[in-house]
Amino acid sequence: MKLTPLAPPPYKIKAVEPIYCPSREERLRSIAAAGYNTFLLPSNEVYLDLLTDSGTGAMSDYQWAGLMEGDEAYAGSVNFAHLEEAVHDIMGYRCVVPTHQGRGAEHILSKLLIKPGHYIPGNMYFTTTRLHQELAGGMFVDVIIDEAYQAQNEHPFKGNVDLEKLAYLVQSVGKEKIPYVNLQACVNMAGGQPFSMENLCTLREFCSRHEIKIILDATRVVENAHFIKTREKGYQNRSILSLMREICSLTDGCTMSAKKDALVNIGGFLALRDAELYEEAKALVVIYEGLHTYGGLAGRDLEAMARGLYEATTDDAIVAHRVQQVHYLGERLSQFDVPLVRPFGGHAIFIDAKRFLAHLAQDQFPAEALAAEIYTESGVRTMERGIVSAGRDPKTGDHYYPALELVRLTLPRRVYTQEHLDYTAEHIEHLFKRRDLIKGLRMIYEPKYLRFFQARFEPLT
Ligand SMILES: *Cc1c(COP(=O)(O)O)cnc(C)c1O
Repeated sequence: MKLTPLAPPPYKIKAVEPIYCPSREERLRSIAAAGYNTFLLPSNEVYLDLLTDSGTGAMSDYQWAGLMEGDEAYAGSVNFAHLEEAVHDIMGYRCVVPTHQGRGAEHILSKLLIKPGHYIPGNMYFTTTRLHQELAGGMFVDVIIDEAYQAQNEHPFKGNVDLEKLAYLVQSVGKEKIPYVNLQACVNMAGGQPFSMENLCTLREFCSRHEIKIILDATRVVENAHFIKTREKGYQNRSILSLMREICSLTDGCTMSAKKDALVNIGGFLALRDAELYEEAKALVVIYEGLHTYGGLAGRDLEAMARGLYEATTDDAIVAHRVQQVHYLGERLSQFDVPLVRPFGGHAIFIDAKRFLAHLAQDQFPAEALAAEIYTESGVRTMERGIVSAGRDPKTGDHYYPALELVRLTLPRRVYTQEHLDYTAEHIEHLFKRRDLIKGLRMIYEPKYLRFFQARFEPLT
């Protein structure tokens, strides 16, 4: 595969944070002490941290300056007004409820719209989203296209909704039992895969006909807009801002984890069009998050979020460079024939651990073992997204055996340079050459819920 040269980033470095690469002996000790689970590594024992892109990005000097302009009034902070204005201007929603992060918005939305016995169709599940739907008495129904489950399928919009699956659900349970479709931008669990504008327009037409709302999970909507611009015919000359407005105009509201595309370390919001629903949302936010003008955040956080939203959507080069970095890492690894999920998505590269470690059975935890080996080899921290993350079937007690057994290399925004990406790719190449020597793991401690965070392992002998 030919390597596309990475264009220079649209920013320069003003403050630096020193990092240190532990020696091989230190790394061996650290990973053993962490029970071979990268979530349990202390961050000061990590060299490059590709665990997640959530809240790990670098803010601009303009955002940092905004922190000093935080209006920490309990009620009516001017920074809230700035956020409202930004969301209205960029996304077109008039009603904004700030929350401490994305799941706070999901909590309020679920309480607001879901009644016991409801079904919530969505383009693949996301952990916190599905849990809040279930806690409100609803049931998630996956209506993503089948291609999303095929690691090698090159479909450019694997995040698309399958309208036939949706129509079948409406027919079987009735539209009264479907409060909204939850439409995720750049579907995380599928590898950061976008939906197309064409698919969204068809979905809008269908939902309007059946009087079903569309709620956008806008967490990665800027990256989704970038893929529409670069992959969908007829959108090449459009700005990210105009695409943002068009996407949002086809939906009835959104939940947002601002820790991703809005370029902040903490924050989120729920946005709505319907003024009556907004009144109800304000009544709920005050119980669970804080008054409706701060929602569990400081005034300075609201300001950084308003500025981050503008920055991410008015300088198209920011998201373009971010996605190019991800693709550069993917192309570097492909040059060494490391098996990856295709096509590359917006926020991360996913290694196919089933093919990387073909000699291991899935219940020997290949992706967990590979993430541990990558750390030992390089000091780079990655994350398992396979059998450990999938958990157990509550009925049989056996593991779920997911089709995709992956290791995720997630790039924080504006944090690492091309040299860091080269370092990562070269070390994974070394590992790939001696992959036959990598051993599986045995689980020696298993928490009851969300086991991937805290499970402990030891190497099989
Ligand atoms: C991160 C994320 C969330 C949850 O947001 P938090 O800020 O982590 O609570 C919801 N949906 C998607 C798609 C996400 O990536």
